[in-house]
Amino acid sequence: MAELIAGKMISVAPGVRRLLAPNPGPFTGPGTNTYILGTDRVAVIDPGPASPKHVQALLEEVGSQIEWILTTHTHADHSPAVKLMLEALDRPIEVIGIPAPQGSNQDLDYSPTLIPSHGYHLETDEFTLEGIFTPGHASNHMCYLLREQKMLFTGDHLMQGSSVIIAPPDGNMGDYMASLELLFQYDIDYFAPAHGHLMEECKKVIEHTRAHRLKREKKVFDLLNIDEGISLADLTAPVYDDVPVFLHPAGQMSLKAHLISLVEQGVGVQKGELWYRVEGVSL
Ligand SMILES: [Zn+2]
Repeated sequence: MAELIAGKMISVAPGVRRLLAPNPGPFTGPGTNTYILGTDRVAVIDPGPASPKHVQALLEEVGSQIEWILTTHTHADHSPAVKLMLEALDRPIEVIGIPAPQGSNQDLDYSPTLIPSHGYHLETDEFTLEGIFTPGHASNHMCYLLREQKMLFTGDHLMQGSSVIIAPPDGNMGDYMASLELLFQYDIDYFAPAHGHLMEECKKVIEHTRAHRLKREKKVFDLLNIDEGISLADLTAPVYDDVPVFLHPAGQMSLKAHLISLVEQGVGVQKGELWYRVEGVSL
């Protein structure tokens, strides 16, 4: 397995290179993976955070060949480098992605030239990319399927080595689960995530992720009571008793997404700060 070393561009598949940004952390794992497609006319997927060092490394390698920049979504570790790239390149580049919704951790400066819809195609002499709309982690999330390699650039829809965070109000668990199911329809050999290594056995990865989420949601539901409400803070420790405490703040965001999902499914109720189970229902 090719190593994840920031600043070192490596080939991960024919016609696909990867450059890791120097932004490791609890939410980003080893950092953000930027993918580079093609050799003569190049497309870049998820240029990453506003890191001059990362942008410089990218432009030194492929600056003169870049024609397209695609983003999976507009969280601060994915799209802010677009602005730095455009300033440095100072020529027209097609920027493909969905604009940022309002909210914290969003790149509100992001200004695409083309907003892809589900099924969007980018065809070049070297490759074909298909856009797949996958809201859930973020409401404006797209994955991109490289037909030739059957490789899906998953952004933050699926990560290797860590769990995806679903942070309401922009993140939505019901949408996330539907977007997971959607991937079963595609012929995919590799997941190329924005965080972590390439993944194989993609159907198994989807099934495992789905089962993990449903198990967590059942755990949340089982901790709810009909008469006595419980707060998000009090639910966090018992729901994540299998996860290190330092990850609980991140888990609490996804916990809220699970609670909202239970309400949307008609089996949970929120009253003020407290959450309850609906009488006579099961999950
Ligand atoms: Zn994200």
